[in-house]
Amino acid sequence: MPELNQPIVGPSERPAEVLIDPIVGVDLGGTKILARMIEPSTGRAVGRVKAQTPSGVENVLATVAEVVRQVPGWDEAVGIGLGVPGLVETDGTVNRCPNIDGWDEPVAVAAELIERLGKPVVVANDVNCGAVAEHRAGAGRGMDNFLAVFVGTGVGGGLIVDGKLAEGKRGMVGEIGHVTVDKNGRMCGCGERGHLEAYAGRAGIDAEARRRAKAGSSSLLIDLAGQGSVRSRHIERGLAENDQLTIELMQEAADALGHALGNAATLLDLERIVLGGGVMDKLGEEFLESITSSESFGGFGPSVVDLVLAQRIDDAGAVGAAIVAADRFG
Ligand SMILES: [Zn+2]
Repeated sequence: MPELNQPIVGPSERPAEVLIDPIVGVDLGGTKILARMIEPSTGRAVGRVKAQTPSGVENVLATVAEVVRQVPGWDEAVGIGLGVPGLVETDGTVNRCPNIDGWDEPVAVAAELIERLGKPVVVANDVNCGAVAEHRAGAGRGMDNFLAVFVGTGVGGGLIVDGKLAEGKRGMVGEIGHVTVDKNGRMCGCGERGHLEAYAGRAGIDAEARRRAKAGSSSLLIDLAGQGSVRSRHIERGLAENDQLTIELMQEAADALGHALGNAATLLDLERIVLGGGVMDKLGEEFLESITSSESFGGFGPSVVDLVLAQRIDDAGAVGAAIVAADRFG
């Protein structure tokens, strides 16, 4: 069992017992597992317990159960919501988690945890949890038809339709990173060609910058990243220093995002699209503006939808997981 941090309840937080219908929200990530006690109706969170993510499915499940039991007020919790970085079927089976060592086959996570914890458990995709947190407690409050898109290493999204998280049969609703923006375009990490993620995700930007650098373009971006990966702060610096390749790549990223988001807004009659994730957090309003003003903006254009930055809720994954669980418990 990995060493657990001591549970911490901040002095300004009220004790867990006064939360209404509290649920333990858990964010299972590639490096850490974090659990908090959440009031789903407001997104308010108290207590925080963390552990390192071990390798191997059995160790991961045992650590999740242990972390949950250590959350202050656990006895009062009506259930558990768990966000995982993988595709989740509606019965709580997680098909695989590429970011977690040794998890490459389907596991009935909800059933396993119900057995260990004796309370109801709902499992959801972590990006969907982030979208739900923005919907309930962030920039999507009050919106019934709303898409949250997170632009980081890859591009993921979560869709709210008529006030509810849309999940689909295979948990793939909101996978906007893999919509096609140019069928003859760049290779995506998934093996298909021309997907949004290959243009707007940091991994795609990194790969393209290195390809163009090899072909002779000078690149501050690659100089900054060196042997490591291109980070959002490198992109920010490249833009600030007017590096030509960075400017080109980010215009292509903005065009690809505008194209895909405009089509999504038109198809789904969205009220708002919220944009979060490392790239958006770093580049902020200026990059948002280049998406909105892109000539490639899809569908009926930017006037039909409101594009805003995410509110970056603390521990959004855990908060969202608890809300998804509460909505499922009814
Ligand atoms: Zn793809």
